[in-house]
Amino acid sequence: MFGVTTHELGHEWFPMVVGSNERLYAWMDEGFNTFINIYSTLAFYSDTAPRDRGNAIQWARFAASGLDVPSMLPADRVPPPLLGQAEYNKPATGLYLLREHILADTARFDAAFREYIRRWAYKHPTPADFFRSMEDRLGEDLSWFWRGWFYRTDVVDLAVDSVRARTDSTGTSALVYLSSPGALPMPVDLRLTYANGATEDVRLPVEIWYLGNRYTYQRKVPTEVVKVEIDPKQNFPDVRRGNNTWMKP
Ligand SMILES: [Zn+2]
Repeated sequence: MFGVTTHELGHEWFPMVVGSNERLYAWMDEGFNTFINIYSTLAFYSDTAPRDRGNAIQWARFAASGLDVPSMLPADRVPPPLLGQAEYNKPATGLYLLREHILADTARFDAAFREYIRRWAYKHPTPADFFRSMEDRLGEDLSWFWRGWFYRTDVVDLAVDSVRARTDSTGTSALVYLSSPGALPMPVDLRLTYANGATEDVRLPVEIWYLGNRYTYQRKVPTEVVKVEIDPKQNFPDVRRGNNTWMKP
């Protein structure tokens, strides 16, 4: 009962004030509402992280099933059993991922999202208007994300293939060999564990994937690296977690 009430209230804004075309782009009102519902649900149930929509693990499970269809499809071209995923859950989970973990800056996201609402209230935005307005206010190229998440069904699969140490006169470096066998790139949150038990967290930006789906991260290290883990907090919808961790053999 709470779910449907909070959802339908949101339709007063999307699409009734920001008048996107529901027949062509259902995700622009259903998805935006569902995105906002993630937060109203967290507040209503006093939760800190989404259990269902918005939760990266639930999305990764569905994406791995191969049933995903692009959110960009008009609703009448989406098989009815998949409508909830394509037009509600996927755009909502994607915007949650963008706000919380890709930008990892809720104030920046909110300023851009509000600016989109302000610019397009009582008008008829298309997806490109939303993407451009967000990028304009954020000052950031997110074409890789819009393309992978909204137009396509690419999956996130980040992997750490191996780790080597290199010592020279300047000290010891770790070479962390990363790959992205899924077609949807993401920033990489790495946790390095050292032989003395200490850990260090590093964020590598999505731009590391600009030249291909392999990247070698080099870092000066105080002592031997014994473990490297990608996305230890499971914030990203990685469809294959088995390749996310490297342990010193
Ligand atoms: Zn709705």
